[in-house]
Parts: sequence; structure tokens; C-alpha cells
Amino acid sequence: MLVDSHCHLNYKGLIEEQGAVLDRARKSGVTAMLNISTRESEWRDIVATAERESDVWASIGIHPHEADAHPDIDLAKLVREAEHERVVGIGETGLDYYYDHSDRDRQKSSFRTHIHAARETGLPIIVHTRDAEEDTASIMKDEMEQGGYSGVIHCFTASEDFAYKALDLGLYISISGIVTFKNAKDLQATAAKLPLDRLLVETDAPFLAPVPHRGKTGEPAFVADTARFLAELRGEDYTEICEKTSQNFYNLFSKARV
Ligand SMILES: [Zn+2]
Ligand SMILES: [Zn+2]
Repeated sequence: MLVDSHCHLNYKGLIEEQGAVLDRARKSGVTAMLNISTRESEWRDIVATAERESDVWASIGIHPHEADAHPDIDLAKLVREAEHERVVGIGETGLDYYYDHSDRDRQKSSFRTHIHAARETGLPIIVHTRDAEEDTASIMKDEMEQGGYSGVIHCFTASEDFAYKALDLGLYISISGIVTFKNAKDLQATAAKLPLDRLLVETDAPFLAPVPHRGKTGEPAFVADTARFLAELRGEDYTEICEKTSQNFYNLFSKARV
């Protein structure tokens, strides 16, 4: 078993040859993929891919970059869309102060709306956070105090301190191909010690192709390279990393079936 917990199969670069991309993923041992939404206009296609491919699951949500473009996103809409049997998560949502493509207050309010949807549906939330650790942690904690929800910090690049704050709230941490980059020493140090029972792996394809594919279009097949790197980094077996991160995926995204 090997699960790519976060990819964008309907983005340019992958959509043109989605069949071949899925074939290559399966050949490199990937047994399931979570196809992530970033804006409302994608939802129908993302869900359609998951209806067509039994090893692809879907999420429903609005990326923080897109918060300004979706002023009318509300809880009822998210909950309704998430009822589809192939939708197993809410997101990606969160805060991105690195690009600041959307107003920060709008990002925050959209993030909270997504957490409310996660709580109401019982589905995990997929959190994107960049240069916004403090606000991300404080919103997650504040919302947790108002009622439980589950989730994952996707494409984790934040501090070790933030990782443990998220783990303390019961969230999972997903490691992307960034961990294989030469200049990612801090991330490697953190990834080496995080508890194995709370780790996921992902590609965030078509972005962030890991070593030795840097510069290419990322695709789910490459999650195997990230898992292999992680195994070496942590001194664990490749098979164990694959099995454990897959089990973690199904524990968290429990609406997805093996
Ligand atoms: Zn993201
Ligand atoms: Zn993404």
C-alpha cells in the first residue's frame, strides 16, 4: 500500500494525460490518491475523476489563494457537496501569507468556515499554511475548543514547534517532496522525529517534484521517491513507511475504503 494524500490530477500538466499519469502511479505502487480541490469551478471535475477511478478520492474546498474569489462560500454549500460518496475530505483551506493572493481576513474567515464544515460532516480538513504559523495554530486551537474536528497539515514545511501544536490537537502531518530537497535541512530534522503513527506522504503534484525528478512536472508516481527518502532519513524500512502512512491515511480519511 502507498497513498498519495494530496495531488491535483485535474491541473494543467496532469489533466492532458491523466490516464497515463494514473498508470505510472499504479506501476510505481501507488494504491490510492486524494485529488484536491482549490476552487468551486473544479469541484464537478474533481468528483467526476473520483467517480471514474476507484483508487482516486476527492476533496471539496477553496484554497486560501482563492478566498477573495469566493466571498459567498458558506457552510451549507460545503456540507452539501461533501455528502457525495467519493468526497472524503474538506479543503484545501488554510492561510497563505507568503503570496497574500487574498485578503488575510477573508482567508481566516474561509478557513473557519471549512473547519465548521469538517466538524459538521465528520470529514478531516486539509490545511495549507505558509508564513502564517501563528494565525493557523491559533485558529485551529480556538476552533478545537469549540468542538472537535480532525485534519492534516498538508505539504508540511513549518517549524517543529508548529508540528507539535498540530499533533497536540490530534492532527496529522503530511510530508511532500520538499523533504528531499538539498536545502531542506530543518524540515528533514523535523521529519526524522515526528511520530510515525501521525505521518502521511504526498506529492502536491503537479508541483514540487522530489529528487531525482526536480524540474519535471510532479505526478503521484513520485510519492514513492519521497517515501523512500523518508525511510532512509528515519532509519525505517521502505515497506513500513508505505504501510504505516497508508494506514494513517485510512484512519484519518475513514470515509475512503481500501
Ligand atoms: Zn497547498
Ligand atoms: Zn495542493
